[in-house]
Amino acid sequence: MQGWRLENTYRSLPVLFFSPARPEPVRNPRLILFNRNLAASLGLDADELAKKEHVSIFAGNTLPQGAKPIAQAYAGHQFGNFTVLGDGRAILLGEQMTPAGRRYDIQLKGAGRTSYSRSGDGRATVGPMLREYIISEAMHALGIPTTRSLAVAGTGEWVRRGTALPGAVLTRVADSHIRVGTFEWAAAQGGEPAVKALLAYSIQRHYPGCADAGNPAAAFFDAVVERQASLIAQWLLVGFIHGVMNTDNMAISGETIDYGPCAFMNEFDPETVFSSIDHQGRYAYGNQSAIAQWNLARLAETLLSLFHDREEEAIEWANAAIARFQDRFENDWLAGMRAKLGLLTQEDGDHGLADGLLAWMKQARADWTLTFRLLPAARTAPGAVSDDPAFTEWRTRWLDRLRRQPPESPVPPLMQRSNPAVIPRNHKVEEALAAAVDGDDLPLNRLLEALTRPWEETSSNEPFREPPPASACGYKTFCGT
Ligand code: AMP
Ligand code: MG
Repeated sequence: MQGWRLENTYRSLPVLFFSPARPEPVRNPRLILFNRNLAASLGLDADELAKKEHVSIFAGNTLPQGAKPIAQAYAGHQFGNFTVLGDGRAILLGEQMTPAGRRYDIQLKGAGRTSYSRSGDGRATVGPMLREYIISEAMHALGIPTTRSLAVAGTGEWVRRGTALPGAVLTRVADSHIRVGTFEWAAAQGGEPAVKALLAYSIQRHYPGCADAGNPAAAFFDAVVERQASLIAQWLLVGFIHGVMNTDNMAISGETIDYGPCAFMNEFDPETVFSSIDHQGRYAYGNQSAIAQWNLARLAETLLSLFHDREEEAIEWANAAIARFQDRFENDWLAGMRAKLGLLTQEDGDHGLADGLLAWMKQARADWTLTFRLLPAARTAPGAVSDDPAFTEWRTRWLDRLRRQPPESPVPPLMQRSNPAVIPRNHKVEEALAAAVDGDDLPLNRLLEALTRPWEETSSNEPFREPPPASACGYKTFCGT
């Protein structure tokens, strides 16, 4: 017994939302990574599935029991331009029902061509699929809502990407794969009836409380806004840059999805961009909350007629709802910043205090993760973070502020659990990927091990806590590879 309990409720939507698809078998599958803990939490038999013969499931050669595979249709605004897309290289096997009664999409990414592939080959390569596994699991360990990674299977086939690269299939686990772009597809292809069907499905699956609201569409939109605002605040607090926040890469569930050119920032600069194709800095670190609101406005456009009979009033309501993003975002960001600074109480000047530190960090090109991690030590050791007079001045303000709150004992633990020691640093990720592509999985496994406990400082995770050497500057990431 492998433990599959797959349902296929997405197929109950009108046919315009999906096409039946079959994973294309691959020549020589090999299990590169398998996430035993995740498997167990899904109700799967991890020992059984880790056996060599079952790699065929994670490579797309055999379907798990109950799977009725489809590719999902969607559209999206990519860098601001509307495009019709769909799963060109991903196939949804079904929805796993867990012992706890939760429903998760099980999707194979890189499983071959679908009716939405256009000129693409439907395949993915080992490097980027391992990268998605590493970073999504790191985000999960940091407590940030995210899709997860159950397995990476090498295909034993070559994929053409300029040069020939080894192919791989990632098994992705998600609350769902409904995107802002799925609503855009519904509106463009099927108009109001299609939007209504998708809305009813999304509410039932992700926001059941909205079904009983006076206006379920409005309640749903408010709830999506809230979750996105909370998510983006969490990204910023750990220095995460998604890199390609197109509307097709924004999940209605509020999970981080589609790990392409994402990366964690080292030196703090709000204009940081890693993606090689983001020339304008549209998806820069400091732009992410504004872009999320832009994306939510595209979602609102698909729902306008459901918000209100009169268009003008619908638009006015939608604008007000999007404006609430900012409140929630700032509230969550500030609450997170207070925790990072060890503040147990609230004062009006706290935002300014945080901004003061960020201003110094930017000017000093201070490492985001390390600066916050060293702060607890800087309470007693003046030079623990920096001897720069500008930092020293800020430190005095901060210590004064700490003195105005009740003493004290919870401060260091609060700061420890709000400021991770280990993040997937780009140079370490690249090192692990390069070794794995060459057949040496040890650095990859060490990295994954360190990332599962990001708050701990141990001798074995020490190499993963260091900022990159200066030679690693100018890091670039690539999409769609
Ligand atoms: P992404 O950049 O991964 O968000 O993908 C954007 C769109 O391109 C999605 O519709 C993908 O399914 C599609 N796509 C990306 N790579 C491929 C590929 N190798 N073959 C077919 N479709 C692809
Ligand atoms: Mg995508």
